[in-house]
Amino acid sequence: MNKYEFNLKTDVMYLKGVGPRKAAALNKMNIFTFYDFLTHYPRDYEDEREVTPINKLVPNEVAIVVGRISNIESRKVRNNLTIINAILSDRTDYIQLTWFNQDYLKSRLESGMRLVVKGKVNEPFGRSNLLSMAVQTFDILGEHENPDLGIFPIYPSTATLNQKFFRTTMRGLLDRMPEMREILPQSILQENDLIPYDDAIRAIHFPQSRYDLSQAQYRLIFNELFLIQYGLMSMKKQTQEDELGIKHKKNGDLVKIVLNSLPFKLTNDQSKVMADVVADMESKSPMRRLIQGDVGSGKTVIAMLALVKTVENGYQGVFMAPTEILAVQHFEKFTKLLEPVGIKIGLLSAQVTRTKKRREETYEKIANQEFDIVIGTHALIEDNVIFKKLGLIITDEQHRFGVAQRAALEKKSESTPDILVMTATPIPRTMTLTVYGDLDVSQIKELPPGRKPIKTTVRHKAGRQQVYNFVRKELKAGRQAYVVCPLIEHSESEKMQHVTSAEEIFEELSESIFKDFNCALLHGKLKSKEKDEIMEAFRSNKINLLVSTTVIEVGVDVPNASVMVIEHAERFGLATLHQLRGRVGRGSDEAYCILISDTKAEISKARLEIMETVNDGFKLAEEDLKIRGPGHFFGEAQHGLPDLKIADIYRDVNILVKVRNVAEKFLNEKNNAADIEQLNESLSIAYGDKFKQITDI
Ligand code: ADP
Ligand code: MG
Repeated sequence: MNKYEFNLKTDVMYLKGVGPRKAAALNKMNIFTFYDFLTHYPRDYEDEREVTPINKLVPNEVAIVVGRISNIESRKVRNNLTIINAILSDRTDYIQLTWFNQDYLKSRLESGMRLVVKGKVNEPFGRSNLLSMAVQTFDILGEHENPDLGIFPIYPSTATLNQKFFRTTMRGLLDRMPEMREILPQSILQENDLIPYDDAIRAIHFPQSRYDLSQAQYRLIFNELFLIQYGLMSMKKQTQEDELGIKHKKNGDLVKIVLNSLPFKLTNDQSKVMADVVADMESKSPMRRLIQGDVGSGKTVIAMLALVKTVENGYQGVFMAPTEILAVQHFEKFTKLLEPVGIKIGLLSAQVTRTKKRREETYEKIANQEFDIVIGTHALIEDNVIFKKLGLIITDEQHRFGVAQRAALEKKSESTPDILVMTATPIPRTMTLTVYGDLDVSQIKELPPGRKPIKTTVRHKAGRQQVYNFVRKELKAGRQAYVVCPLIEHSESEKMQHVTSAEEIFEELSESIFKDFNCALLHGKLKSKEKDEIMEAFRSNKINLLVSTTVIEVGVDVPNASVMVIEHAERFGLATLHQLRGRVGRGSDEAYCILISDTKAEISKARLEIMETVNDGFKLAEEDLKIRGPGHFFGEAQHGLPDLKIADIYRDVNILVKVRNVAEKFLNEKNNAADIEQLNESLSIAYGDKFKQITDI
């Protein structure tokens, strides 16, 4: 492999040591290219740098020793346990080695051999007064051979792709690979004391020292966050320079009539956000705004008013919901409020498009602008959906990073439509600007008046029966309940930790205490049609108790659901728990959320108890940050950013803030064309077309 052949986008199946079977297994781990492989970073390191003289060993610590063995014996302790013992001596002292259940070693080990052994040191026991060591790993050394010491990577691995595979293949690739091109401009490297990219990639896998490793980690964390920031901010800059935005007129009668017909007054926060949206729409550059607010804080009302505004200006508006059921729910609500003022609303979802006749009818009405507002699922972005005059696109955050999808919608219009994104994911203030770097952000913090907080309590697992007795009472009174579990079914390791799965809980509950009620099980492995059917049955009160994983949609309105029980609550982040509980308490009844946990860890308990008193999603997200430290925010929050491979926005929040400033400064300077080209190339290697808009230009 020479410099010219080497390409980071090459398929992993061309890696030495990787055949079709291994390539398929790598693909399953989301590793498709050489780049993906090189950025399959170790999750940890084994530090094997020092041999300890035997007379310096300390009980209960793991150590490495080198010496000669003698007195090898093997014996059966119990039916199913064999032990091999041997004495290992160096110049300073001797120790007893113990191997458990590795009878086959008897024939490999010979008295007089030199070994390097890693293991845990134990106090003398039984009649022996010798320290002993339970062997974890060992190697036979030649007479003059030195043990192989150093810092070794530990990779996320699987049964097919084990540690040895990753270490050998990575080593091989790094050895054959030409020097990697630098990604970041020299000025940024210098100002931020960053080591070269090539050094960092090599050292992250096989560091020479802890210092090397920390330098490499810093550089790669910086790198990852910088690329994303740069990507997001370039997108924003491009929007601001867009000349084809729609300049909406000042609010006219239609908006005012609808506003006045609402059965309530907007809260202060809603009014402020509405003013932001109105100003964006009236300006000539396209709106790219995110509205962040708890479930039930009244975002949808703002979305509706914005749609009315675009209709008033002679345009069509689109509202894209993540699921069929939410689309239908919004359709019904909007129709009730807007049809009286002459606005025509269409629904476009899988259900509607199933029959050819209805599908074509709907397409035609969209194309003729017989529909002013179209509400739907991703069926909206199909090619045959043609708008006459699209002015505003409203989506939920799950679609926000589907740049390709967004572009597909934008193409449906001559001007650049305004875009409004809504999210119920609370993230700490420190991160909002960074994570949503391509959007302007408005927050609704205040809940509409009269909302009763959801009564939340933490219960130990021992009190589960009582909890379910309480749920029974609610069901008897005609109300409905959710039971949420972290897992559908479990892996072996989870069985060991005694985590009950949604399936098990469903069986248990539906066959005993709730036998006389209608129960259903909802989880992510069901087809979306099945999910929708179950959700619809729950919504229409045909199902009383719904056991589910976290797939129940944020925003689904089931006002009659008054209780939510969350099993193994300690396994969720506070922000997630908060979003989950937002699904009850949407009606006039008192609502309850009961968090069941058997955690013994004080810190976990303290964390859960915060839920009892704090009702503000943003505050809970901050608490998560403080208590949990490095978390898995990205995965949980699903706000659509690419997965982070090495950075952690909790742990690395300081680097994040710094990187944002660096990226901002860079974008405001006049830059070298080669630097920009290199950055765009790196973005495309790392994230494909997620930031495509930018690299296209
Ligand atoms: P979100 O979209 O943020 O989840 P919604 O817009 O669906 O919230 O509002 C939740 C509920 O609160 C709806 O039934 C809505 O009619 C009601 N609502 C919204 N704003 C107000 C307000 N200012 N005063 C009273 N009720 C409101
Ligand atoms: Mg505009």
